[in-house]
Amino acid sequence: MNPIEEIKAKLDIIDIVSGYIALNPAGDNYRARCPFHNEKTPSFMVSKSKQIWHCFGCSKGGDLISFVQEYEGLSFGETLKLLAQRANIVLPDKYAVKEQKDVSALAELNKLAVNFYQEKLHSDDPVATKVLAYLKNRGLSIETIKNWKLGLSGENWDELLNFLKAKNFSEDDIFKAGLSLKKKSGSGYVDRFRKRLMFPIWDNMGQEVAFTSRTLSGIAYDEAELGGKYVNSPQTELYDKSKTLYGWHKAKEEIRRQKYLIVVEGNMDVIATHQAGTQNVVAVSGTALTEDHIRLIKRYTDNVILAFDGDAAGSAASLRSIALGWQHELNQKILLLKDAKDPADLVKENPVLWKTAIKKSIPVMDYYFQRVLSAVDLTRSDHKKLAVNKLLPIVKFLKSNIEQTHYLQILSDKLNLPIEVLQKDLQKTESFLAGQEQNKQSLKTELREPSNRLLNLSTQLLSLAFFQDQYLEKVISEIEPEMLEATLQGLYKQVIIYYTKQRSLKSFLDFESLTELERSMWRKLAMQAEKDYNETTSKELNQHFQDILDNFKKQHLAFRLQQLIQDLRQAELVQDTEKQDQLTHEINLLNKEVYKLQ
Ligand code: ZN
Repeated sequence: MNPIEEIKAKLDIIDIVSGYIALNPAGDNYRARCPFHNEKTPSFMVSKSKQIWHCFGCSKGGDLISFVQEYEGLSFGETLKLLAQRANIVLPDKYAVKEQKDVSALAELNKLAVNFYQEKLHSDDPVATKVLAYLKNRGLSIETIKNWKLGLSGENWDELLNFLKAKNFSEDDIFKAGLSLKKKSGSGYVDRFRKRLMFPIWDNMGQEVAFTSRTLSGIAYDEAELGGKYVNSPQTELYDKSKTLYGWHKAKEEIRRQKYLIVVEGNMDVIATHQAGTQNVVAVSGTALTEDHIRLIKRYTDNVILAFDGDAAGSAASLRSIALGWQHELNQKILLLKDAKDPADLVKENPVLWKTAIKKSIPVMDYYFQRVLSAVDLTRSDHKKLAVNKLLPIVKFLKSNIEQTHYLQILSDKLNLPIEVLQKDLQKTESFLAGQEQNKQSLKTELREPSNRLLNLSTQLLSLAFFQDQYLEKVISEIEPEMLEATLQGLYKQVIIYYTKQRSLKSFLDFESLTELERSMWRKLAMQAEKDYNETTSKELNQHFQDILDNFKKQHLAFRLQQLIQDLRQAELVQDTEKQDQLTHEINLLNKEVYKLQ
C-alpha cells in the first residue's frame, strides 16, 4: 500500500468531513450546505460506502484528501502530511514534497531546454545560419525571433539529454517533462526533438511548458522528413493542449484593450501578426477551440474572429467548435484567407492586406450562407432543396426567433420561396448538433430531443449500475459501450475494464486511466443514485431498474432508427440507390426488433 491508499484505508470520510462542517444523515449518506459555494438548501453530499463527496450545486467533489486540500487551501503534499499525522502513519519525507518538486522540476527543465535550443540557433553552426535565413525570409526580424525564443534542435540523439543530465536532472524527470522518448529497442531514452525548428509554448500564465517544432527538411536538410512536419510535446503535468492557446500570455492585454481576439492556425501566423502590430492574436493546436479555451477567452472578451483557410472553416470539426462558441454566447466572425495564403504570408506581402482582411471578416452565419448558396444552381429545385437541407439545421441552432427569422428571410429571398414554407420546414428540422457527438455541456441540457432522451436514459442506467454491483453486472453483460449516448461511452468503457479486473468499484476513483472529466462524471453519477434511491425498497428498485433497462433498449433502437432514416434521406437526395437499398434493409430489421420490445 502506498501512503495515499494507507491514509484512505485508515481514515473515514465522514469523520474527516464532519470535523469541518455539520453533516446531516440522509439514509446511508450525509448531506450539508456546501462549504465551497453559497447556498440555502443543502446540495453537498457525502457517501460513506463510496468514500466520496460531491456537490450538486457547484459540481466540486472528490475523496477525503481532496476535501481537506480544498477546505484548508493546502497543496497536495501538505494535505498528505496533515492526514498522515491524523492516520498515525509515517509518511516518507520525500513523499510529502514529491508532487510539488516534480512540477517545479518539469518547469525548470522546459526553461533550460528553451535556452539550450535558443543558444544553438544563435550559434555559428552552419545549420543555424540556414534556419535564421529562412526565418528572415519569412519576414521575421531578429528581434522577433529572440522575443519568441525560437530555437534549433541538433543532429545527435542525446544533445539535450546530456546537457540536462549534466545539471543533475534524472532521466525520469526529463521524460516526464516531454523532452525525451523511450528508445524503441533496449533501455534508455533519446531526445524527442532532433533537427527541428523549435517554438516554445507558454502556458496561460507565461511559463514555458512545452514545444512545438517544425521539420527542417527543405530548409537546412535535403533528406525527407522524419516524424512528420510538426512534432509537439506530449501532454504532461504542465502542458494541456486543450487548455493552452499559443501566444495568449503576450496577447491578453491587447485582447482586453481591443475587446476582441483573433484565432489563427499556426504559430508562425501568431508571431508574424504580432510583429505587424496586431497583438490580439493566438493560435490553437488543430482547428477547434475547446470548452476550456472558450472559458478562458470569455474572461476577457465575447468577440472572436476565426482566421481559417476556406476548407478548414467548412469542416465538421470547426462547425462543432463554432457551435460550442454559440452555446457559450461568443460573437464569432470568420476571416477568410483567399488563395491559400496564411496570415504570415499575408503580413509578409503587405501588413495592410492583413488589417483589411480583419476589417472584412463576416459573421459566421453569413459565411455559411455565402458558402452554401454559391455552390448551388438556384434555378434547379433539387439544388434548392439541398441548400435548405444544409442551412436549416444551422439556423435551427440560433437561439432567438428574431435571428432565425432574419436568416429565413434571406433564404426566402435568395431561393424565391415563401418564408412560410421555410418556417414549416424549420419546425421539422433538427439542429445540426442533434445526434452528433456532443460535449459534456449536454449533461446539463434539457430533455427535448431523442438524442437527449437517450442521454437521460443512459445517465439513469449508469447511475443505477454504479449504485449496486448486481445491476452493474447486468448492464455490462447486456449493453455495449457504443449503445450509450456518446458523452458517456468513455467512462463506461473504463468502468468495464476496471470492474472486470477488480470485481468492485470501491477504489475506482483512483483508477489511473481516468481523465478528469470521467472522474467527475463518475462521481456525479455514483452520487445521483445515492441521492435518489436511498429510501427505495429493493423490490421497488429491482422493478425500476428493469424498466430503465427496457426503456433504454427501446430508446437506443429508436435513436439508431432515426439516424438511419436521416442517412436514407441523404442517400435519396444524392440518388445513391445502392445505399438506399442497404439502408432500407437495415431499417426493416430494426423495426422488427422495436416491435419485439413493445
Ligand atoms: Zn457546492
